[in-house]
Amino acid sequence: MSSDCIFCKIVSNDIPAKKFYEDEEVIAFHDIRPIAPVHFLIVPKGHVESLAGCDASHQALLGKILLLAPKLATQLGLKGFRTMINTGREGGQEVFHIHVHVFGGGETLPKT
Ligand code: 5GP
Ligand code: ZN
Repeated sequence: MSSDCIFCKIVSNDIPAKKFYEDEEVIAFHDIRPIAPVHFLIVPKGHVESLAGCDASHQALLGKILLLAPKLATQLGLKGFRTMINTGREGGQEVFHIHVHVFGGGETLPKT
């Protein structure tokens, strides 16, 4: 746990979030500023700064998170979705605890 990390505080329930999935390694909760009708984040419980801070020891965890995305998206009624991982300030990352965005619903998403 990183004491000044907002996602660590969500993991430990020190700040509230609309969590809808939790297991021993990861949580998922709705983004506070959604950019689509459904927009959630899948977050490992352990503090890892970003994708750039991952190594082979994180391989199974990263795979698990990606495989969870379609399961959770389906549970929330999405028929398709977009995933996004922002990495580093130049990559648009604001919260430095790795997370995968999953969003969709409503209109077909524009091509990037
Ligand atoms: P990033 O730009 O780091 O990839 O995305 C961080 C995301 O976390 C943003 O979409 C932002 O809206 C979301 N976020 C930041 N703080 C909170 C919070 O306290 N609660 C929730 N649920 N989402 C947050
Ligand atoms: Zn953290």
